[in-house]
Amino acid sequence: MHILVINCGSSSVKSEIINTISGDRILEMNIHRILDTPIIECDGEEIHCEKTGHDFVLNKAFPLLLQKIGDITINAIGHRVVHGGQAFDEPVMITNEVKKAIEELNPLAPLHNPINLLGIQIAEQYFTDIPHVAVFDTAFHATLPRRAKTYAIPHTLSQKYNIQRYGFHGTSHEYVAKEAARFLNSNIKDLRIITCHLGNGSSMAAIEYGRSVETSMGMTPLEGLVMGTRSGDIDAGILLYLQQKENLSIKEIDDLLNKKSGLKGISGDTNDMRDIIEKAAQGDDHCRLAIQVFAHRIRKYIGAYSAVMGGVDVIVFTGGIGENSPMVRHRSTQRLDYLGAIINEDKNHDIHLSKDNPIGEFSWNHSKVKLLAIQTDEQLSIARQTEKLIQEDLKVNTIPPIPVAISARHIHLSRETLDQLFGEGYELTVKKPLSQPGQFAANETVQVIGPKNQFETVRILGPVRSKNQLEISRTDEFFLGIDAPIRESGKTENTPGCVLVGPKGKVQIHDGVICAWRHIHMTPQDAEIFGVVDRDIVDVKIQSDERSLVFGNVLIRVSPKYKLEMHIDTDEGNAAEIGKGATGVLYITTDGNAQLTKKKLKTV
Ligand code: ADP
Repeated sequence: MHILVINCGSSSVKSEIINTISGDRILEMNIHRILDTPIIECDGEEIHCEKTGHDFVLNKAFPLLLQKIGDITINAIGHRVVHGGQAFDEPVMITNEVKKAIEELNPLAPLHNPINLLGIQIAEQYFTDIPHVAVFDTAFHATLPRRAKTYAIPHTLSQKYNIQRYGFHGTSHEYVAKEAARFLNSNIKDLRIITCHLGNGSSMAAIEYGRSVETSMGMTPLEGLVMGTRSGDIDAGILLYLQQKENLSIKEIDDLLNKKSGLKGISGDTNDMRDIIEKAAQGDDHCRLAIQVFAHRIRKYIGAYSAVMGGVDVIVFTGGIGENSPMVRHRSTQRLDYLGAIINEDKNHDIHLSKDNPIGEFSWNHSKVKLLAIQTDEQLSIARQTEKLIQEDLKVNTIPPIPVAISARHIHLSRETLDQLFGEGYELTVKKPLSQPGQFAANETVQVIGPKNQFETVRILGPVRSKNQLEISRTDEFFLGIDAPIRESGKTENTPGCVLVGPKGKVQIHDGVICAWRHIHMTPQDAEIFGVVDRDIVDVKIQSDERSLVFGNVLIRVSPKYKLEMHIDTDEGNAAEIGKGATGVLYITTDGNAQLTKKKLKTV
C-alpha cells in the first residue's frame, strides 16, 4: 500500500508517501520554521511563505502536495498524534468523536495535540474520500502495569485529572524492539529489551516479552532522561525553592524546565550533542559535565529497568544521538559486565548506520546481553500501523462467542517435586477432567506457604509438567506476601518461589509463582476465523447479564490440542461480575506479529 504519513509538529511538518512493503519514500514534503520564516520543500521545489502559522502554511502546502501526487494512488493517511491518554491504546480511524477525544486531551499535551489536530482537520479538507488514521505516541505504553504508571500523589487527584505515567516515543520504541528481535532471529515475546531513544527528546523503555512495562517519560514528555532542552527527572522541591527565590511565574518555570534545561542548561550553550561533543574535546568543562550527566542517567535507567524485568537480553540505542554517537553508547554501556553486557569498543566505533545498513551490533559474541544500534523509522512504523488498520477494516468477520472459564488458584508440579511431596513414583489421581484435552484436576492438593500467610489446600492440576508453576491471583499474592509477575504459562524464569508441603515432604521451590496472563486457548482453525496467530495480544469484550466489560491484553495461545476457551482468574471474574457460562467476543486484535488490527464488534 501507499500511505501518506503526516507528522504535524509545532515548528515543522514532515509528510511522506511510503510504500509499506519496501519502506521506499515515493514523495516527500517538509515544512520548516512554520512560526518564523516558513519554507515548504516538496519534490525539489522550495516555496517561501509570506505569512507564518500552521493555518496559512498548511493551506498552501497541501494543494502543492496534491498537485505533486498527480496520479499516484494513496490508500490512506496516517497522522501522528502525540497523546492518546487513556482513551487510545492503538491506532484508530479518525471520526468526529475521535477528533473530539483528541481535543479533550489537549491539556495533557498542550504543545502537541492541538497542532496534531489542526493538521488532521486541514488535511481532511484536501484529502477527501481517503481514510484518515490517528497513530498515538503513547499507545505502545498502554500495557504499563499499575505499579509503573501510578504517581504517589493522592489518588483522588490522579483520578480527577487522569494523572498517570503515559510514556511517549512509543512508535519508535516498538519499532526498534521489533527490529532487534528480527535481527536476532528471535520472537519479541521471548526477549527482555531495554530501548534508549536518544534524540532532542529522549526516553527509555523496558519491554518485557513484547509489552512495555516501564518507560522514562511520564504524564508529559518532561520526565526521565536529560534531553536537549528538557531537564528530565528533577526534585520537585527545587521548583518550589526557585519559585520563591527568583519569584518565578508558572510560565517561567515551564520555560525553565522545557526550554532552558537539559544539555543546553548544563552546557550553558547548546542543545546539539554534536557541538557539545566537539566543545568537550576542546576542554569545555560544562560540555564535559553535560555528557557525563546525560550518560550517567541512561546507565542508571539501564540498571533500574533490568531490575524491573529480572534481567535483560538486549539493549538498543536509537534516535539521532543513540544511532550516531559511539561515545554516548560507550559511556552508557561500559562496566555493565555484571548484567552480562560486554561492549566491543571496535565494533561500537565502526557502526555507521544507513538505510541499507540500519542495524549494528556492538557487543562481543560471548556477551549474554546483545547491544545494538538501530536506525528508527517512526514514519514507516506509522505507515504500517495505518495499513494494518485499513486492511482489517475491509475484512468481514463472523466471530463465534468464546466460552469464558474462571481459573481458581492451582499448581502444576514437576515429576521431581511430586516425588518429594508425595513419595517416589507417586501418580496423581483424576478428580475431574478439565476442558483442555488431557488436563485434569487431581484429587491431591498441597499446602502453599508464603512469607506472610499460607493456603492449606491448593489443587494440583495434572499431568506432571517439566516445571513447577503456581498460578495465583493478585488477591492471593497479597495474602501470601509474594510479588508475582504476570506471565504466560511456562514462562517462569526470574519469578519468585514459595514453600510447598505434601504428605511426604516439604519443598522450597525457587521459582514458578506467577499471576497467569489472561489468555484464550484456540485451535489453528479458530485462529484463522479470528484472524490471529499464536501469542497475539487482543482485547475481549465480556458480556454478562449485568454489564459488559473489555479485558485488554489477552494472550492468544494456539495449538491443535486446545479447545476454544478464555481463562481469567478469580479476581478478574469478580471484577466482571461473571460466573459460569459467560462468553466473550473477541473484537479487537492489537500488537503481535500478525499484520492486522481489528476494531469491530460483531456478536453472533
Ligand atoms: P528529534 O528528537 O528532534 O527527532 P534526533 O533524533 O534527530 O532528534 O536527534 C537529534 C540529536 O542527535 C541532536 O542532539 C544531534 O546533535 C544528535 N546527533 C546527530 N548526529 C550525531 C553524531 N554524529 N554524534 C552525536 N550526536 C549526534
